[in-house]
Amino acid sequence: MHKKRNTTLILAVCAILLVFGFIGWFLVAIFEGEKPKIELGPVPVFLTKATEVPLVVTDAKRGIRTIKVTLKQGSRQVTLMEKRFPFEGFFNEEGVHRFDSVIPIDASELTQGRADFTVYAWDYSRSSGGDGNLTIAEHKMVVDTIPPALRLVTQLNYVNEGGTGLIVYQTTSDAVKSGLYVGERFFPGFPAAKDDKEGMHVCYFGIEVDIPKDVSLYLWAKDKAGNVSKAVMNRSIHIRNKRFRTRKINISERFLDQVLPYFTPELKDPTAQNIAKFLEINQRVRKENASVFYDLRTDTSPDRLWEGTWLRLKNAAAMSKFADKRLYFYKGKIIDEQMHMGVDLASLASSKVGAANNGRIIFADRLGIYGLTVVIDHGQGLASTYSHLSKLNVKPGQTVAKGDVIALTGQTGLAGGDHLHFGMMVSGFFVNPIEWWDTHWINDNVIRKLDAIK
Ligand SMILES: [Zn+2]
Repeated sequence: MHKKRNTTLILAVCAILLVFGFIGWFLVAIFEGEKPKIELGPVPVFLTKATEVPLVVTDAKRGIRTIKVTLKQGSRQVTLMEKRFPFEGFFNEEGVHRFDSVIPIDASELTQGRADFTVYAWDYSRSSGGDGNLTIAEHKMVVDTIPPALRLVTQLNYVNEGGTGLIVYQTTSDAVKSGLYVGERFFPGFPAAKDDKEGMHVCYFGIEVDIPKDVSLYLWAKDKAGNVSKAVMNRSIHIRNKRFRTRKINISERFLDQVLPYFTPELKDPTAQNIAKFLEINQRVRKENASVFYDLRTDTSPDRLWEGTWLRLKNAAAMSKFADKRLYFYKGKIIDEQMHMGVDLASLASSKVGAANNGRIIFADRLGIYGLTVVIDHGQGLASTYSHLSKLNVKPGQTVAKGDVIALTGQTGLAGGDHLHFGMMVSGFFVNPIEWWDTHWINDNVIRKLDAIK
């Protein structure tokens, strides 16, 4: 009797435990606390145009109940998407556990400024008083669909072929980069003054020799959001055509014997014939040197460092001019053609070379065909170059004043005799130095424009 009663009791307890266990499991299951997961694709910080934001919501346990996406601007709120998912099966096992979508946002329908993008996702858990677990994903955005404004201040601008131009323009304060495009070539603008609050910019630019007549000239500005403005300048910038010289240069064996030893470390094949070595120097090495000069353009002060007319090497004759077209002859045959991108000034051997204007040394080293070379940054993209030097007196980073002796002339690199090769650069582009030695030209084309914005 006792034994049977005991067995019944144990069975009853087991049954009760099983029921409680089941109820417990059931409650844990329906009140589960695992929140839905929200994954968003790239959400732009700046909204400039119609955009689609990829969205994935997952809920492994009880499944997704509701997804809501809103965009709030001040007191105004727009619902971009709202979706409720049906409860399917005993535990919603047939319901939706993963939802993939893209949320379209049309920036043109929004007001400029701050916008809060929010995604809400609830699951079918009975927790939170039956509302389910809630996950919120928020992103702050700035609606900016208005490109920066651009206004040219200097209306009449004359530029010589091969020379330098200066324009003054105004942009709205949100412009982060602006400047002038001459064809494919970009010349950046710089704030006209340190304390400028009007968005005034100065932009020096160069006009290449033999520039196509239909070259496109346009002002360009980009704001923080990525909006771009363009303003065509072809009516405001007048290019004056110039004539340049063509000169024959005879390459003699004596010249080759004189200059080639300097280039031994740069040549690919030391056993090549002298004339082949010369062509490698005049073509490959020249091209590589040009890119070294070009890369220096970013190492420029945003402030104007120079003052007045540039200095020219004292008592020196110009042996070669800017943009001389050089035809190279060897044994009576034409072998190469290059353009001379500076002015060659010859004086006494080892003459003192003064800084043409105030600035900062940004290069002082050996440079291929240019031999020992110094480059001075004068700010806002302007730089002067000094080549074929025999001795350097300065180091990169050093500040120099107009007239300071920076080096001695020489004939290092591809030079037949002692002379100074002087170059002027505008944002890495070589221009005719003759203008910068000309007080009248500077006053009419540069200083007058700069003084007008003070
Ligand atoms: Zn030269």
